[in-house]
Amino acid sequence: MPEVEILVRHLRPLLRGKTIRRVSVRRERATRPTPPREFEKALAGSKFKGLTRRGKYLLFELLGARRRSEPAVLTMLGHLGMTGRMFVALKKEKLLPHAAVVFNLGDRNFIYEDQRYLGRMTLDLSPLNELGPEPSDFSPETFAAALKQSRQAIKIKLLDQSLIAGVGNIYASEALFRARLSPRLAADELTPAQSKTLLRAIGDVLNDAIKFGSTVGLKTMSGKSGGLFYFDDGGEGYYEERLRVYDREGKPCLRCGTRIERITQGARSTYFCPHCQRVR
Ligand SMILES: [Zn+2]
Repeated sequence: MPEVEILVRHLRPLLRGKTIRRVSVRRERATRPTPPREFEKALAGSKFKGLTRRGKYLLFELLGARRRSEPAVLTMLGHLGMTGRMFVALKKEKLLPHAAVVFNLGDRNFIYEDQRYLGRMTLDLSPLNELGPEPSDFSPETFAAALKQSRQAIKIKLLDQSLIAGVGNIYASEALFRARLSPRLAADELTPAQSKTLLRAIGDVLNDAIKFGSTVGLKTMSGKSGGLFYFDDGGEGYYEERLRVYDREGKPCLRCGTRIERITQGARSTYFCPHCQRVR
């Protein structure tokens, strides 16, 4: 989620007020389930109005060009998947081989590029219906009540986007470390005080990542790439010093010196300190 929030803040001023002259879908899968031709037709001539984030999705708000007298508001949903990037580039620049959707904005292109095509740019908004609240929209009471509904391990539950939106694998481990909670604890076993501490830890972890990432996570390339703005998620590099437990297997806990352990939960790695995060 922090990566997406940073991208949203970066793109918002670059896109606001820009009219899409032409849309070119270069990879059929990129707009699924919206048919590519329908996608191109609906968006050509529309103007970028707003950009927000919900969970890991980017929500582009556009004023449609269909009927001039009553402009229709369109919402386009973007998702980066694992390898997606979205950036604005000068039109004269050569398109990258994995450019999936290209929005012609005049002298610039807004480009969604994806090497593995797990992300998308679509008019289908149904994924939003399955999202739980944002961490900042939970009260400690509603969060505690939501956790009471599940016996799954808390670490696995935090990745459930229908419970809470936008907490990824790295941040789930980090939040549990900060809250000193075992990742194996069943969600319904958390006391009200523990779930309150955890909710605060989630907020802190995400806010730190946004704050830190927003200063260094964006790269502006110039020179030979000629003004290509892009978002570099550089997961390993940028957040590394900020991460207290993730990817630190065998290294000493920053709090107590015990070796950090790695376990697999729901096919994802979890890192934790067996001393600070004992099951109590
Ligand atoms: Zn420790």
